[in-house]
Amino acid sequence: MSPFDQPAPVAEAARPVPLIDPFGRTVDYLRVSVTDRCDLRCVYCMSERQTFLPKAEVLSIEELDRLCSAFVALGTRKLRLTGGEPLMRRGFLQLVEALSRHLRSGALDELTLTTNGTRLAEFALDLARLGVRRLNVSVDSLDADTYRRVTRGGELSQVLAGIQAAQDAGLKVKINTVALKADNARELPRMIDWAHGQGLDLTLIETMPIGEVDEDRTDQYLPLSVVRQQLESFWTLTPLVDHTSGPARYVRIEETQGRLGFITPLTHNFCESCNRVRLTCTGTLYLCLGQEDCADLRAPLREHPGDDGPLREAIREALSRKPKGHDFRIERRGERPAVSRVMSTTGG
Ligand code: SAM
Ligand code: SF4
Repeated sequence: MSPFDQPAPVAEAARPVPLIDPFGRTVDYLRVSVTDRCDLRCVYCMSERQTFLPKAEVLSIEELDRLCSAFVALGTRKLRLTGGEPLMRRGFLQLVEALSRHLRSGALDELTLTTNGTRLAEFALDLARLGVRRLNVSVDSLDADTYRRVTRGGELSQVLAGIQAAQDAGLKVKINTVALKADNARELPRMIDWAHGQGLDLTLIETMPIGEVDEDRTDQYLPLSVVRQQLESFWTLTPLVDHTSGPARYVRIEETQGRLGFITPLTHNFCESCNRVRLTCTGTLYLCLGQEDCADLRAPLREHPGDDGPLREAIREALSRKPKGHDFRIERRGERPAVSRVMSTTGG
């Protein structure tokens, strides 16, 4: 019998029925914020005096594993661990180790994370060993002083060392850069050139009106349509049709031979192909990054320690309420943000 005549692997045969929302979208991508804490205080993300959740409210590593595994049992194929800063979460590697069993069984296609990279040098080898293949690292400037100002104290050299360590460990790194009118607008071409020179994709993100921060976001909002126009004045941008499971649209820059992504929640609505939901570190499931609609999964998790039935039922019920899309617009001066929770609570 040739290998092609073999029966399908068990995991393949027993693939669960995927979660489908009321608009027919298959939801098979879960982003999990494993902590609301962070070692940085990026100006667009957190207030300088950010207060954090009491420990009792935060799910334990075992609870996070159980919740993520319930999603995997309901057809989730991709898990992204984020935060706050995921590498600041005590027991983070234990969680990755536990979840990696789903990669080995074939139930999960990808286990990945978004990190600020400050502790990546410490973690890179273990992450690669446990089956992580790709990760996103957020870098908003390659100028050490600007980086320190935007992150309120971050050390760029630490992050660059982390990126190098990740590449040395065989991990594919993508850079995430929030476009900031005052802080990095002029630097963006240089950052793209640097990333592509290192063999890294880079994705630009528009600032989203999420959470109360100290600064006025209208001062920093930079539409990516404007950035794209500028880049097109000296580079050739060829749109790529490849569909990753994220919200970015990609182009290839012919001169640098690298990929550049655009995440434009404000200038381009990306909801029609949304395949994801977000879980906070307290077990609240948000059905859309730009809406307040949510479901408490911690209660069924804690009230039924030995039985995942009620938890799965709560997940299915929540998915039946996933909204069609968001209605972001950058707030006018003094206006309240579209969504009051900070990004570090819901995860990027
Ligand atoms: N701490 C990690 C990091 O910075 O990569 C993971 C969590 S962070 C909330 C995830 C992503 O969200 C980062 O790329 C960050 O730049 C982005 N982000 C945070 N607040 C944002 C906002 N208001 N608008 C757009 N992107 C934001
Ligand atoms: Fe921390 Fe990431 Fe928010 Fe910056 S963007 S404050 S690194 S959670």
